[in-house]
Amino acid sequence: MNAVTHRGVLAEWCSTVDAIGPETVVLLRDGSTGVSAIVVVDNSACGPGIGGTRMAADVTVEEVARLARAMTLKSAAAGLPHGGAKAGIVADPLMSDPEKEAVIRWFARAIADLHGYIPGPDMGTDERCMAWIHDEIGRSVGLPAVLGGIPLDQLGATGFGLAIAAEAAAAAGTFELRGARVAIQGFGAVGTHAARFLAERGACVVAVSDIRGAVADPTGLSVDELIAWKRAGGNLAEFAAGTPVDRDTVIATDCEILVPAARPDVITEANAYDVKATLVLEGANIPVTPEAEATLHHRGVLCLPDWIVNAGGVICASAEYAGQGPTRAFENIAQTIRDNTSTVIRRSREGSMLPRLAAEQLAMARVREAMSFRRSWSDRITGEEDAGAT
Ligand code: NAD
Repeated sequence: MNAVTHRGVLAEWCSTVDAIGPETVVLLRDGSTGVSAIVVVDNSACGPGIGGTRMAADVTVEEVARLARAMTLKSAAAGLPHGGAKAGIVADPLMSDPEKEAVIRWFARAIADLHGYIPGPDMGTDERCMAWIHDEIGRSVGLPAVLGGIPLDQLGATGFGLAIAAEAAAAAGTFELRGARVAIQGFGAVGTHAARFLAERGACVVAVSDIRGAVADPTGLSVDELIAWKRAGGNLAEFAAGTPVDRDTVIATDCEILVPAARPDVITEANAYDVKATLVLEGANIPVTPEAEATLHHRGVLCLPDWIVNAGGVICASAEYAGQGPTRAFENIAQTIRDNTSTVIRRSREGSMLPRLAAEQLAMARVREAMSFRRSWSDRITGEEDAGAT
């Protein structure tokens, strides 16, 4: 049987409790299997929150809450009719298929009435899991194409958005995109498509890495050949038309555009001074620590925040949820990321502030405006303003 052990917000669970959220934290436990799960709806003022359902043995409430907040800001900045939410199923993602289906179906039934949350794929879950959830409760994104899903990683929605952001940064006078040298850390779904779309715009990819190794050529690598090599199972370090380099030195490549598209916290205070790029496009989520972002900013490196430039995936998911196809989704990505990137650069310059702060102001203004139309939330906003006035 499903057992909801708590529904509400306990401040001690999340260090991020503030006037925005989390709105709801749900802890679930399947009494028969012992599997537990966490759902955090951070803020649903703009609409139900789209967010990944992560399956990992060590996922925590704190982690889910942080990711849910990032989704609130990402969806709001993108002007989507969605809030922010995220879920974690505390289980080994490498369990057998029948076991996984049973766990996912249990999870889906347990969140059937949690309408503020729309599950999507994440670490440890995929489009099949989303199809099982959809079958149970009729609510999920990242579905197989046969069920109306848009295969965003195949089409490269997030990589496309990164290339659009680079175009907008170039238009703001940061550098010339044609001929700009690009280094990509993490040649996966985001990284390969970012390379492809940037190369289509005349940029020159000079270094790429993945978990196994890295390859570089200061005169340019063939992106199509690299992608074919990787798809065939090749090690990037053995790609013949380039020179193998130390995987972790890709961050220090002599280039105009650096795209960290692998993991969180890869650019820190320890290596922020090694970055030679003019523009850092945050393809991964939180790849640059706040301290490193400040260092880059003071060095004159434009570091565009993750939830502005890597929003292609959630924009695509939102289009799928609205029943739209890939063409419309890509039009939305282009317009939204172009506008947001230009706005963030302009406000950052005018206000002499970090691009992340400018982005946060943009997103929070939208969240607060949406909250002002909700009775439960407008009371909280008014209370906060009254408190601030005394
Ligand atoms: P992926 O698994 O397809 O690719 C990740 C790549 O990073 C792999 O090639 C892996 O080998 C490489 N990698 C891992 N550790 C590395 C290291 N230390 N050095 C160099 N390379 C390393 O994942 P993805 O979908 O491309 O996502 C990448 C990141 O972007 C993740 O943080 C993800 O949460 C984030 N993100 C993805 C999307 C999306 O649409 N897929 C959208 C927004 C954010």
